[in-house]
Amino acid sequence: MEIKELEKVQRAGVFGTLTQMGHEQVVFCHDEATGLKAIIAIHNTVLGPALGGTRMWNYTSEQEALQDVLRLSRGMTFKASISGINLGGGKAVIIGDASTMKTEAFLRRFGKFVNSLNGKYITAEDVNMKTSDMEYIHMETNHVTGLPESMGGGGDPSPVTAYGVYMGMKATVKKVYGNDSLTGKRIGVQGVGQVGMHLVELLVKENADVFITDISESKIQELVRTLSVKAIGQNDIYDLEMDIYAPCALGATLNDDSISRLKCHVIAGAANNQLKDETRHGYMLVDRSITYAPDFLINAGGLMNVYHEYQGNYNRQRVLQQAEKIYDTCLNTLNFAESEKISPQEAAIRLAEKRIASIGKLRTIR
Ligand code: NAD
Repeated sequence: MEIKELEKVQRAGVFGTLTQMGHEQVVFCHDEATGLKAIIAIHNTVLGPALGGTRMWNYTSEQEALQDVLRLSRGMTFKASISGINLGGGKAVIIGDASTMKTEAFLRRFGKFVNSLNGKYITAEDVNMKTSDMEYIHMETNHVTGLPESMGGGGDPSPVTAYGVYMGMKATVKKVYGNDSLTGKRIGVQGVGQVGMHLVELLVKENADVFITDISESKIQELVRTLSVKAIGQNDIYDLEMDIYAPCALGATLNDDSISRLKCHVIAGAANNQLKDETRHGYMLVDRSITYAPDFLINAGGLMNVYHEYQGNYNRQRVLQQAEKIYDTCLNTLNFAESEKISPQEAAIRLAEKRIASIGKLRTIR
């Protein structure tokens, strides 16, 4: 995280930051016996309980951990709202080294903290948390989702996420090119992990001209061997002449440097927080006539998957039907951005906030 952002948090103080970002509750969890230090952030529960994964990271400072959990939980509120899901936004971070600190007692202690919120916060897997870790957390609380099929869960959400991204990409292509066909479109996919790999399969099926990059040579080789795709260098993707750039690896790849280099008309990918600065870089893309499909809107398939699981009676077909609707939501958002002369990111946030405000008003009607 940048020093400037951290300084902002320090200057505003905890309550100043919560006021600015609109959080309801932040819980600091500490257990001396196990060494657990965690923060659970509940951003907004107007639409339903706050759902969001638990991330374990060796943060360089407590401020950095706090800033991360506040930013991520806010993002979850918008993601659920714009997707028409009745969930609020939450997230948890555990501070420390995931390779050495996780023990059964450590994880179960965290599970007890989650349980103490009585379902106001529902957790799931995120960076550096494994299925086996979630099993320990589940021993202390039922407020866990994203469990493997063997434990009655919905299994790997990545194919659903990829399908939603594909639908969002097609909607954006429709807006830009007048029809939604991906046949013959030059598409650069950055990161062919769980989601990227499934996305590439869908793109190849539609006869797109697919270029892939990854830091893992073996993942690239596997796809080049099995599918009709071409490999390109990690840094070359920003200079590639392409129709669509699909960031499916890390956040913040849309920044001053990359935006000035990109030669594409559409950006649609799975990665979270693609815009390094939501406002500045959102509008830089508008100025460069590149149409950006807001990440939290088109990558919501994974959230839909865990939402259905949490409701019970999980059915993959029903989840895919919901993910298909990302097409219409994305197209509506891009049309709204155009009519209001705002960036797609801002349009998506406004639509998400509008739903929360209107459903919030229903609460007062008896
Ligand atoms: P993953 O870890 O399986 O895949 C990420 C891939 O990116 C890996 O293959 C990794 O080697 C590669 N990578 C890392 N740094 C890179 C770089 N600099 N250049 C090129 N490749 C690089 O993760 P995933 O589950 O596929 O998720 C991908 C992104 O989508 C993440 O940002 C994640 O937060 C987001 N996302 C995932 C889901 C889901 O259902 N899995 C849901 C919503 C959002």
